[in-house]
Amino acid sequence: MRAWQVVSPAPVAAHPLELVDVAPPTPGPGQVLVRVAACGVCRTDLHVAEGDLPVHRPRVVPGHEVVGTVELPGAGATRFAPGDRVGVAWLASTCGRCRFCRRGDENLCPTATFTGWDHDGGYAEKVLVDEAYAYRIPDGLADEQAAPLLCAGIIGYRALRRAELTPGGRLGIYGFGGSAHLTAQVAMHQGAEVHVMTRSAEARTLAAELGAASVGSADAAPPVPLDAAIVFAPAGEIVPGALAALDRGGILVIAGIHLSDVPPLRYEDHLFYERQVRSVTANTRRDGEEFLSLAGRMGVAATTVAYPMARADEALADLAGDRVTGAAVLLADRP
Ligand SMILES: [Zn+2]
Ligand SMILES: [Zn+2]
Repeated sequence: MRAWQVVSPAPVAAHPLELVDVAPPTPGPGQVLVRVAACGVCRTDLHVAEGDLPVHRPRVVPGHEVVGTVELPGAGATRFAPGDRVGVAWLASTCGRCRFCRRGDENLCPTATFTGWDHDGGYAEKVLVDEAYAYRIPDGLADEQAAPLLCAGIIGYRALRRAELTPGGRLGIYGFGGSAHLTAQVAMHQGAEVHVMTRSAEARTLAAELGAASVGSADAAPPVPLDAAIVFAPAGEIVPGALAALDRGGILVIAGIHLSDVPPLRYEDHLFYERQVRSVTANTRRDGEEFLSLAGRMGVAATTVAYPMARADEALADLAGDRVTGAAVLLADRP
């Protein structure tokens, strides 16, 4: 099968990915082999390709927003039947025994493994997944629209939960890409007033179309004090301004897996009055199940830009260059 591998992590301009021919993987006990229909392109793929994240598996195949159909269940795998539509997401395994797993925080498991980093992902014709970590995709969501939900959507949902926004509260969103535009829809569906700050003019237009109460440039101050804010852009320099924009008791959530350094903070301007900063680390399967069921019910509409699987490197370069509005999705060639 054809698969994209990160041969040697480097800036996308240096083409760190290579399209190669490899033998399709064989499902082990409890795993299923999935034929990829669509795979979203996440900023984390860029961090893996460019070496912002350390190499966990040499020549890894990126991609952790996979929608496909079960082709072959491995020994003892009974949850899905061949032909079932499933999603393969970032969280690939946890130990189930450590203190974090036991208390319901499996996203913090120190030995968790991840799709497209520790295991080969969905920039390929086929991918393996442990059936216990696969998701059913709600009917009514097309493959292309469902793919970005699997990381961008789920992580955004966890970030929103960690923002603890009260109904009708004011939420600031910094950066407006794949994850943010889905999170904004969920927040508005739950009654939030959403203010979007982003450097991309196209993204500002999309935010306004989706119903944002205000849109502004990346360093703009929102027109009202915020009850909570989520930073989606991987830019630490946004953090002081976002903290300053919080009302008393406000919560700032940083949603990315990678952030450039945060400049020095001033206690009085940025933290006093019980403002809080929280990070988001991966997600639990419960986050995923809850979000996908919510997305199916409320009909979350992912704005997507489709690329053929054979142009994955171009999709990543476009993401790196801020040329994607919404979420980029790789589509498998029709057999
Ligand atoms: Zn664990
Ligand atoms: Zn991701």
